[in-house]
Amino acid sequence: MHEISLVQGLLDQLHSIARENNAKQVLRVTMIIGPLSGVVVESFEFGFDILSRQDDLVRDAKLEIIIPEVTYRCSNCGQEEVTSRARPAQCAKCGDRILIATQGDDLILRQVEME
Ligand SMILES: [Zn+2]
Repeated sequence: MHEISLVQGLLDQLHSIARENNAKQVLRVTMIIGPLSGVVVESFEFGFDILSRQDDLVRDAKLEIIIPEVTYRCSNCGQEEVTSRARPAQCAKCGDRILIATQGDDLILRQVEME
C-alpha cells in the first residue's frame, strides 16, 4: 500500500521536528490531502493508526485531514467550478466535457502541535 510509505515519511518528518524542538509527544497533526493527490484518505488514516501505535512520539497524536477544494476550469469557455467532490462531468455553462483541474494534488503537513 502506497499510503504506508507516505505515513512513514510523515513520521520521519515528525521525529525530526520533535528533535529540533525538544518535544516528547505529538498531540495533533494536520495534513492537507488534495483530492487529486492520488492518496486514499482512509488508507492514510489506517496506516497512521497502525504505525503510530508502535511509536512513542506519536502514539496519542490526533490526525486531522483537510481535503481542499479543486478548481475546474472549462477548456472551452473558461467557466470555473470549485468543488471538493468528484470532477464534474461537464461545464455547467456550455456543456463542454474537457475540464482542467488547476490545483488539488497537494500533500502537505500543515500543522503540528507537540509538547
Ligand atoms: Zn464551458
